[in-house]
Amino acid sequence: MQYRTFQKTGEQVSLLGMGTMRLPLTADGKVDRPEAIAMIRRSIDQGVNYVDTAYMYHDGESEKVVGEALKEGYREKVFLADKMPVWLAKDEEKMKELFDEQFARLDVDVIDMYLVHNVTVPIWKRVQKFHVLDFLKEKQAEGKIKHIGFSFHDELPLFKEVIDAWDWDFCQIQLNYMDKELQAGEEGLRYAASKNLPVVIMEPLKGGKLTDVLPDSVEALWKQAEIQRTPAEWALRWVADHPEVMTILSGMSAPEQLEENLKILSDAAPGSLTEKERSIIDQASAEYNKLIQYSCTACKYCMPCPQKIDIPTAIRFYNDWFLYEENPKIKDDYPIWLPKGHQASDCVACKACEGHCPQHLPISEIMQKTAEIFE
Ligand code: SF4
Ligand code: SF4
Repeated sequence: MQYRTFQKTGEQVSLLGMGTMRLPLTADGKVDRPEAIAMIRRSIDQGVNYVDTAYMYHDGESEKVVGEALKEGYREKVFLADKMPVWLAKDEEKMKELFDEQFARLDVDVIDMYLVHNVTVPIWKRVQKFHVLDFLKEKQAEGKIKHIGFSFHDELPLFKEVIDAWDWDFCQIQLNYMDKELQAGEEGLRYAASKNLPVVIMEPLKGGKLTDVLPDSVEALWKQAEIQRTPAEWALRWVADHPEVMTILSGMSAPEQLEENLKILSDAAPGSLTEKERSIIDQASAEYNKLIQYSCTACKYCMPCPQKIDIPTAIRFYNDWFLYEENPKIKDDYPIWLPKGHQASDCVACKACEGHCPQHLPISEIMQKTAEIFE
């Protein structure tokens, strides 16, 4: 296992982090506890020392399973990461209850890396309204949490604003070779690094969409490459090539995925990809992009929608459906990003948005097509 330095303390953090959002499941869809615990412990035995969970992963089961896996001497071997689901708190009291509940589920005394989960414009507003950062500082002073960070899912300007607003210890962003310019993206990664902020990466395989089912053109490209690598290896090596990355979280669902990730990240040194290798990855990205149906740039000039539909996100789902070979995981994610009442089918075709779109996209028509696929 390779290790990278957590600048604040000089401690070494494994390049592969154990993500627990997609744990192995039993036939009836529940978390396969024995398998999940064995996998988490196997990862630690092989040198992984960063284990990440969150309040809502597997409806709370992830925190409980992680807590159990870290018994019998494993707790001391890892940085344990958990996150505050600010959107579930209607007031400050509820936020404190959630925090205590996380400790009860995990059955630990300290959480090493504690993040404000899923920072977006509304969540950032709520963080301020509920004085979340003052609360976390208090908990840090009490020794309940060691380092404070945030995970991010909005656009680059907000990312920079959040970084500049507070003295964070680290942050977490989504990054893979298809999302170089999405959300914080590569520019955000470099910005965080310029502020000496360690960066944890999530979704390096785009939730499995870069590995599950490939478009023929991408599969052909990988086959023609001089060096034969799996799609997961190409994707992970692309992320690991960035020296600014501290650790890469992979949400592993099966022991074989863990073994593959351990192998790949044992020698993926920063800056080790050759020009030729980078060019193959760029070509794969271009092949995916040819499948885009509507070229929405996520500029948000069309917003706000009177029906409170997140228009660029709905269009992204529509495009992803064609990019990633109708991967069923896209359908699973749709209601998470577009909650009931504000989904594509709630569009009333008022067309208030269309006149503002610099790409002249037929937004109401796209909403109808999106609803036909996902609802
Ligand atoms: S056309 Fe649909 S998406 Fe556009 S503003 Fe009206 S309701 Fe919202
Ligand atoms: S204005 Fe057009 S390009 Fe911009 S986010 Fe809206 S739909 Fe996408």
